[in-house]
Amino acid sequence: MATSADHQRFERAQKIIPGGVNSPVRSFSGVGGTPVFIKKASGAYVWDNQNKKYTDYVGSWGPAILGHAHPDVIAAVKNIADDGLSFGAPTELETSLAEQITIMMPSIEMVRLVSSGTEACMSAIRLARAFTKRDKFIKFSGCYHGHADFFLVQAGSGAATLGIPNSPGVPASFTQHTLTCGFNDVKAVTELFRKHGKDIASVILEPFVGNAGFIRPSDEFLQTLQSLCKNNDSLLIFDEVMTGFRVARGGAQEVLNIKPDLTTLGKVIGGGLPVGAYGGRKDIMSLMAPLGPVYQAGTLSGNPLAVTAGLKTLQILESASYEKLAEHSRKLMDGFVQAGKQYGIPMQSDFCGGMFGFFFADKPVRSFEDAKLASPIFKDFFHKMLERGFYLAPSAYEAGFVSFAHTDSDVSATVAAAHEVLREISHAK
Ligand code: PLP
Repeated sequence: MATSADHQRFERAQKIIPGGVNSPVRSFSGVGGTPVFIKKASGAYVWDNQNKKYTDYVGSWGPAILGHAHPDVIAAVKNIADDGLSFGAPTELETSLAEQITIMMPSIEMVRLVSSGTEACMSAIRLARAFTKRDKFIKFSGCYHGHADFFLVQAGSGAATLGIPNSPGVPASFTQHTLTCGFNDVKAVTELFRKHGKDIASVILEPFVGNAGFIRPSDEFLQTLQSLCKNNDSLLIFDEVMTGFRVARGGAQEVLNIKPDLTTLGKVIGGGLPVGAYGGRKDIMSLMAPLGPVYQAGTLSGNPLAVTAGLKTLQILESASYEKLAEHSRKLMDGFVQAGKQYGIPMQSDFCGGMFGFFFADKPVRSFEDAKLASPIFKDFFHKMLERGFYLAPSAYEAGFVSFAHTDSDVSATVAAAHEVLREISHAK
């Protein structure tokens, strides 16, 4: 919970950094109030400047799947730092990370490392356009693929929280080839292909949406996307920046048993340092410069520290128990919903592996449009949980994350707090 010292810190930051933050959703604008300033993190916990400890379900927005500051990751980064921070020349480490990614996600035959999920998604669209020689692509409302101009249409995450899905500064001509429709809307996406099929380079989606809260795709929706792409020679792009190595060892594509043409990655593959990647079919990836004509570059791409953190993280994940991770998500979500039931507050929840979401809604949420109908109780719930030392994402439109460092007792304590909070909210109604 923000203290008067945090108010001062935030005021100081706001004088010099727009909104006081370097990424909008951190500002608590989705829930009101002053953000907590974090000083350090370890395992499943973060501490604020007053040394108050919080059980953390944000996990740096996804990367901290092993828990914060995993000793092996920290040791590997410290060790490599002594040899220099960046060379701008090839390193064997990059090849090792690329190989590790292809082992864990076999649909990826070739991969290019970048420094953020935004870069990965932006580059994947450029590549898909070049490969198909077409301009249009489809994205789904509530899905967030980073902040490249042509994605800022019906975007989720911070753009949803702030109510600015179409950002000023993006010329209309930059989004004229972005086609959008609702997630899980089979009819609408079929219609888009009927009208524009021969111009559609690709369909990009978060296979489990995490930027509008957690939303699961229906089987029919996925089958429709696969067959529409196949029949129209369009590429299917899975944005696994959030779901990659998070919902399962092989990402959402393993859970859903789908081989996308291209995949974008981020978050977990940097283990807490900035790494993104895009990869997929070799015939498509071979178009990238310098092998092919499609340009994309980065001064710090493949940075040795970041690659080391990512590689160590993936190596540890190879033998980790995702069943245990999913069990914690299940226990947490069942606990929240049960508590809601007990106090007459309807809730919906879902999870996959270490990713979960809940809505204060009385009907299942299948799209961003459904999500927007959920009750604003979330804000109250969020603040009351924070007061008690449980740090959830400060927005109703963000998935939550459980890490391998969370214990049974962390989860039980969180559920107990949710009971207390929901009882309080129900009494105040
Ligand atoms: N794609 C998805 C699914 C994301 O969740 C995000 C970020 O939250 C991005 C892309 C953009 O990644 P980054 O913030 O690393 O640029």
